[in-house]
Formats: sequence, structure tokens, C-alpha cells
Amino acid sequence: MRVNITLECTECHEQTYLTSKNKRNNPDRIELKKYCPRDHKVTVHRETK
Ligand SMILES: [Zn+2]
Repeated sequence: MRVNITLECTECHEQTYLTSKNKRNNPDRIELKKYCPRDHKVTVHRETK
């Protein structure tokens, strides 16, 4: 039930992280606060597509 997803920074739109999520627990797009190496700070990252 786990699918691979890409996380994109909502500020610079860099696709920074590859991760996986449980589709049953998170049927919608997820958002996580993560460090963006391009912005040099923690930003909100959103699942792409
Ligand atoms: Zn960024």
C-alpha cells in the first residue's frame, strides 16, 4: 500500500526529496516541512502530481 512520491519545495519548486507514503493513511497530497538546500532553510514541501 506504499507508493513512491516526490516532494517539491513550495517556495523555489525544486524537487528535493524522494520518499514514500501510505496511500491508505494519506490519500491526498501530503505536505511536510523539510530543509531545502536551495533556500537554505526549512520550507513546506508538497507531493507532486
Ligand atoms: Zn526551496
